[in-house]
Amino acid sequence: MVSCKIIKNMNTLNPFFSVVIPIYNEEENIPELYRRLTSVLGKLCLDEGRSANDYEIIMVDDGSSDNSWALIRKLHEQSPEVRGISFSRNFGQHIAVSAGIDAAKGEAVVLMDGDLQDPPEEIPKLYSKLKDGYDVVCGIRQARSDNSYRKFISILFWIVFKTLLRLDITENQSMLRIMSRRFVNNFRKITERNRFLAGLFAWTGFNQTTVQVEHAPRYAGRTKYTFWKLIKLTFNAVTSFSYLPLQLAGITGLFFSVVSFMLGIWFIIQKLVFEIDVAGWASIMLSILFIGGVQLAFLGLIGEYLGRVFTEVQKRPLYMVKEEI
Ligand code: UDP
Ligand code: MG
Repeated sequence: MVSCKIIKNMNTLNPFFSVVIPIYNEEENIPELYRRLTSVLGKLCLDEGRSANDYEIIMVDDGSSDNSWALIRKLHEQSPEVRGISFSRNFGQHIAVSAGIDAAKGEAVVLMDGDLQDPPEEIPKLYSKLKDGYDVVCGIRQARSDNSYRKFISILFWIVFKTLLRLDITENQSMLRIMSRRFVNNFRKITERNRFLAGLFAWTGFNQTTVQVEHAPRYAGRTKYTFWKLIKLTFNAVTSFSYLPLQLAGITGLFFSVVSFMLGIWFIIQKLVFEIDVAGWASIMLSILFIGGVQLAFLGLIGEYLGRVFTEVQKRPLYMVKEEI
C-alpha cells in the first residue's frame, strides 16, 4: 500500500513533456535553442492548463569536444528542467537519441535536432495531433534547408530505401516528432545495436501519422555528418531492414550461371558445326577476374551481415555514460 502511494507520488513528480536533443559540438546553438524551446514549452504547458515548467529538456552530449557539456551544465544549474547525459565518446546521433528516450520521464516525448533545423515552434502542432489519439506524430520536411551535397545524399538515401527496398516508410522524415508514453515504453524494448530510428519507428506499428514541418537552415556550425558517416548510416539502415543485398548475390550467381551455360553451348556449336576454335588467354583471364571480383564482393557483403550478428551477440551496452545531471 505504502509503496503504491510512493509510486503514485513519484509519477506526479514526472514532467508532462520530455524533449530529447542529441548534441555533438553544438556550443553555438545551445543558448538560442534553450531560449526558443523554453519559450514554446512554457506557453504550451500554460495553454494545456499545466504549470509553466511541466517539462524536461534532456540534452545528450554525444562526446562533444567543444564547450557543449559546460553549457548544458550551466543551463542545468540555472533551471532544473534541463537534464544532461554525457557520453564517454561519440556514439552517433541515433544512439544519443535512444539514450534520451531511455531517460525521458514525460507523458509526451519530443525528439529534435540540436541545431535549430527543427524549429521548436512546430512542437504545439505535433502535440495537438498527438491529442487526437495518435502514438507517434512525425514531422515531414517540405524542403530540406541544406547545401546541395547534403540534399543529394538525402535524396539518394530515400531512393534506396523506398524504391530498392520497398519499405513502407514516409519519405523526408525529420527527427522532429512526438511520442506517447505507451509508445516509448514499447520502443525501449528494442535492443538492436546498429539502429536506424526512422526504420525502427516504422517497424513498431502503432497509430502513427505525419505533419508537415518547416526545416530551417542550421542556426550555426556545420553538419556533423561527413560523407563516410552518411554512407555508413545508409549501409546500416539497408542491412538492418533488408536481406535484399544477400538475395542479390543469389540472383547474380544465377544470372552468370545461365549466361555461361548458354555461352558454353554456343562454343560447342562453334567448334562442332563451324569448326572455329575459341580465342584463348584474354577471355579466360577476364572471366576469371570478373567472377572472382563478384564473388569477393558478395563474400564481403555476407561478412557485413556476419559482423552485424557478431556485434549483436556480444551484447555490449548501447552507450557509456560518463556523467549525468
Ligand atoms: N549528432 C550527434 N552525434 C553525431 C552526429 C550528430 O549527436 O555523431 C547530433 C547533432 O549535434 C545534431 C543532430 O544530431 O543535434 C543532427 O545532426 P546534423 O545537424 O549534423 O545532421 P543533418 O541535419 O545534417 O542531418
Ligand atoms: Mg542538422
